[in-house]
Amino acid sequence: MYEHDILIVGAGLAGLRAALESIEAGKNTAILSKVHPVRSHSCAAQGGINAALTDRGDNWEDHALSTIKGSDYLADQEAVEIMCREAGENLIDLEHMGVIFSRDEEGRLGTRRFGGQSVARTFFVGAITGSAMLHVLYEQTVKQNAQVYEEWFVTKLIIEDGECRGVIAMDINSGKLEIIKAKSVILATGGIGRIFEPSTNALICTGDGLALAYDVGASLMDMEMIQYHPTGLAGNGILLSEGARGEGAYLLNSNGERFMEDYAPEYLELASRDVVSRAEQTEINEGRGIDGCVLLDCRHLGKSKIEEKLGYLQEVAIEFRGIDLAEQPIPVKPTMHYIMGGIKTDFMGQTDIPGLFAAGECANVSVHGANRLGANSLLDTIVFGRRSARGAIEYSSQINSISKSKEELNNETKRIQNIINRTNGERSATLRNEMGEAMTSGIGVFRDTKSIKIAKQKVLNLIDRYENTSIDNKGKIFNTDLIFNLELKYMLDVALTICIGAENRKESRGAHYRTDITERDDKNWLKHTHVAKTDGEVQFYTSDVNITKWKPEIRKY
Ligand SMILES: Cc1cc2nc3c(=O)[nH]c(=O)nc-3n(C[C@H](O)[C@H](O)[C@H](O)COP(=O)(O)OP(=O)(O)OC[C@H]3O[C@@H](n4cnc5c(N)ncnc54)[C@H](O)[C@@H]3O)c2cc1C
Repeated sequence: MYEHDILIVGAGLAGLRAALESIEAGKNTAILSKVHPVRSHSCAAQGGINAALTDRGDNWEDHALSTIKGSDYLADQEAVEIMCREAGENLIDLEHMGVIFSRDEEGRLGTRRFGGQSVARTFFVGAITGSAMLHVLYEQTVKQNAQVYEEWFVTKLIIEDGECRGVIAMDINSGKLEIIKAKSVILATGGIGRIFEPSTNALICTGDGLALAYDVGASLMDMEMIQYHPTGLAGNGILLSEGARGEGAYLLNSNGERFMEDYAPEYLELASRDVVSRAEQTEINEGRGIDGCVLLDCRHLGKSKIEEKLGYLQEVAIEFRGIDLAEQPIPVKPTMHYIMGGIKTDFMGQTDIPGLFAAGECANVSVHGANRLGANSLLDTIVFGRRSARGAIEYSSQINSISKSKEELNNETKRIQNIINRTNGERSATLRNEMGEAMTSGIGVFRDTKSIKIAKQKVLNLIDRYENTSIDNKGKIFNTDLIFNLELKYMLDVALTICIGAENRKESRGAHYRTDITERDDKNWLKHTHVAKTDGEVQFYTSDVNITKWKPEIRKY
């Protein structure tokens, strides 16, 4: 019998941070993940985590202002205040747990400056910050004997009387579906990167949690807000961290000019990501790119600094392009990286569905608004991962009964068996590639009514075709063919919500830049967009942005 007070789906930073909080509160807690915890995408985070530490004269209000300006005033300011105020305490906690942050010459925690920040407040572990944090949090959960359903895949949320009471999940190793009952469920399932091709994200970033929540009626908020990172490696899109520009690297066009001087005279390469990506794309579109790219130039940093601070980037550059960063600039271009939008939650991770919580990249408490600042996502996972556990602890303490449902399991078993039984259909990979291309060209750095419409029609067409896909592997054990097919459905559902958000937001704000409506429109669109399903029907609506003390201003870098 699988039964818990709190079930956490996802073992990245948000999930593990939530798990620790829940275990420490004495709750019967379980973590469930489709991959081994330390293979979650959090392990790929390179650059760092932001915090304003008072002992060095920094203050959280300045961090909050940078974040809000970075968000193009779409972030909810109360949420940003919470995140920035709680950052220092959480950072020190991580240090005490064992995360060995890089030091400065005096032996104190070192910082680097990240984009859109007025000062250096990004703490890091070389260029492996996410991996270092993830391993430490995982060790802490092992120490607490946490129960982990490792390599289990959630296919459905169980809703009873309008409340979430657990999940249906497949043990990938045996192919068996089981009900896992819980008084509350926290989704910490990460991002959606692979809906776009190329992407800096791991292949497992397929938006499962967003689709699961959307399926049971939770609202997805600001889904059109897709971040393109300015320095994805030419070709495959592997990330070259903002840490490079944080350490002083330049961006050059084909004339060898530092073109950011024209777009962001004060912040230059360290303007916010939406601004830098648009500048790069403009250079490329106007013929000053090189094979659809611009150049990231680290040469002046010198070999020893590159090796010490940007070692991982150097490895990637040599391995994938045969380029030594100390000797040659490397071609980069804007590459899909992050979704600011997600499952709408309150400050305690509560979604629209009682008993269902969400945190990390799959959630949207709205600290990133229309554009996330680098190194604010790791902070978001830690602060709101922990808070979502507090929300779930309180909620589950009031629940006595636990799910009895068997019917859902039978329906789900039938649905999946149908997929296995289908023959001679299209392959999932074909549809997945077509989706990736359509989304990148339609919902790109620049977009307009027509491009969004084409992308949406393509997604609708793929949703129809999905029903006729078939898989080759008919076996039960570790059927990755089947998992790929199930993930494709999640991706298509989420892709549609992105298109709906984009077609409805009739302004340009942050990452949502329309060439047919280039101005920000605070009068009509200082608003969140929502897509949700009621009785199977897709609904679109808007809600107000929470403003505390920072009035929207013109955004200049
Ligand atoms: C290359 C790269 C570099 C980055 N660098 C930085 C950085 O330096 N600083 C920063 O702040 N941010 C960075 N980011 C963003 C940041 O890393 C992520 O937003 C954050 O780590 C997401 O954490 P998470 O806990 O929400 O999800 P993830 O770490 O993505 O974990 C998701 C978890 O959900 C599980 N899961 C998903 N679906 C299912 C399912 N159906 N069933 C069971 N389990 C499921 C997965 O197995 C996994 O354990 C970077 C992102 C990338 C891609």
